[in-house]
Amino acid sequence: MSVKRSTRLDFIREIINEDNRTGKHGGRVHTRFPPEPNGYLHIGHAKSICLNFGIAEEYGGLCNLRFDDTNPVKEEQEYIDAIKEDVHWLGFDWGDREYYASDYFEQLYQWAVQLVKKGKAYVCDLTPEQVREYRGTLTEPGRESPYRNRSVEENLELLEGMRAGRFPDGSRTLRAKIDMAHPNLNMRDPVMYRILHACHPRTGDRWCIYPTYDFAHGQCDSIERITHSICTLEFENHRPLYDWFLDQLGIFHPQQIEFARLNLTYTVLSKRKLLRLVEEGHVRGWDDPRMPTLRGMRRRGYTPQAIRNFCERIGVAKFNSTVDIDLLEHCLREDLNRRAPRVMAVLRPLRVVIDNYPEGGVEQMEAINNPEDPGAGTRKVPFSRVLYIERDDFREEPPKRFYRLAPGREVRLRYAYFVTCREVVKDEETGEVVELRCTYDPATRGGAAPDGRKVKATLHWVSAAHALEAEVRLYDHLFTEPYPEDVGEGGFTDCLNPRSLEVIPRCWVEPSLAPAQPLEIYQFERLGYFCVDPDSTCQKLVFNRTVTLKDRWAKIEKAGKANV
Ligand code: ATP
Ligand code: MG
Repeated sequence: MSVKRSTRLDFIREIINEDNRTGKHGGRVHTRFPPEPNGYLHIGHAKSICLNFGIAEEYGGLCNLRFDDTNPVKEEQEYIDAIKEDVHWLGFDWGDREYYASDYFEQLYQWAVQLVKKGKAYVCDLTPEQVREYRGTLTEPGRESPYRNRSVEENLELLEGMRAGRFPDGSRTLRAKIDMAHPNLNMRDPVMYRILHACHPRTGDRWCIYPTYDFAHGQCDSIERITHSICTLEFENHRPLYDWFLDQLGIFHPQQIEFARLNLTYTVLSKRKLLRLVEEGHVRGWDDPRMPTLRGMRRRGYTPQAIRNFCERIGVAKFNSTVDIDLLEHCLREDLNRRAPRVMAVLRPLRVVIDNYPEGGVEQMEAINNPEDPGAGTRKVPFSRVLYIERDDFREEPPKRFYRLAPGREVRLRYAYFVTCREVVKDEETGEVVELRCTYDPATRGGAAPDGRKVKATLHWVSAAHALEAEVRLYDHLFTEPYPEDVGEGGFTDCLNPRSLEVIPRCWVEPSLAPAQPLEIYQFERLGYFCVDPDSTCQKLVFNRTVTLKDRWAKIEKAGKANV
């Protein structure tokens, strides 16, 4: 079957099409997503998930979820559960194909025995430091271990002893016997097994030796009969080693294909670095809305669709590059624009009293829920004598081209009336503007004047007596530098943005939001997209600003400077 998609063919799909044409795997396409359960998934993993599950879907094939749980020291059940939740959230499913490298520990061990019997692996007593020392460098060949020429019988006995727990951690390793002068350092007798008396989340105390990632990964793919083993570029020079193991064992040979990992401006994407942000308290947790983790992004208001569109749009390449975070936000706006209901909210309130409006009077104004979606209908928004508008929408001395409210000036209140500012009330001590006295024109109900007169601005507002109180959290990039990983000295934590979170404790939102549920996303008119935070209570709503409305990427694209 050839690929069913309208977008350009990338090099991976070209390889698969060619394999299908030549019948290499009998037309079978079987991929896998192989996370190590030592942290939460981030947007980089999403790229890999979309690629592996997406390709399987397009070609009518299968994609497995396989946990690469070969390092019991750093892995936890909590991460396994979170990874499954995140993959499902993105909209992908692995059916009953949830596998674990640890399911194959016995088979891997048997293969290790087979290599020992073939004279292709040996037990080495060098310490980890010595192994490193003997390895040589890119310019100098390594030296052979003095244990390299042990007899098969001795090796078998020692390997059994390792398995039986007769030796302490780090005292011995099993190594492949390849070539200590090989130009590729990965081929210089790499370690296959290490001794580690550690309890594994799945196999408990059954094992005290664990296979290295290099010895496990290719064989796990082989066991699952993966046809296309897609991974990131840093594994390119491990491929000869994976091929060597498969060939020596004479087992099914998946094709490894490497692609460039995702890097994003103003972001770090490595579990190790994300863990530091959490542990050092730079963020509130793994699901902090500033984190590039899928849980952080979900809490921020990212939709699975926006992330999938983004992954499709950036495509796959064979060289590393960094994607502009503006493109990610652009994909998010595109999606939210279609789905987010519009509401009115005032973040920094300024009190407005409409002097000629009847005391105690209330009118229900009709407001459009989503101009992009006529099916979304309308709602009622209460209007009354005392309102809040945005402090920024008033200037006592308006500069040129400031068309919003100012003394003596008339503007439109969205879905309501034209109002004119008559008087500015100030705090006697501080001089701060605390209230505006205005009048309204009853003939402009709905926002149009029968005499055809125009106003230059339309403001959003809420009725003070009806509005609900809310806390709003505004976010900016976590780093001040576009390439935080390249910042010298202390590295990425040196360029943390001190203004990445701003909490506005008392904002006002229209009453239709009373039943709003965590993770629902709204557009606050003129302000941006906001997502209900799980910290919300019936007493107080809490919103995260997902993104503002200003689309920097659309501008870049219009100017013809976009490179995606
Ligand atoms: P990290 O570098 O963040 O610690 P990792 O590669 O160690 O990530 P794994 O759990 O091994 O994390 O990753 C699972 C899969 O996701 C791998 O196939 C890996 O290649 C892929 N992956 C990880 N990070 C990225 C990224 N930034 N872009 C694309 N794919 C990625
Ligand atoms: Mg990894």
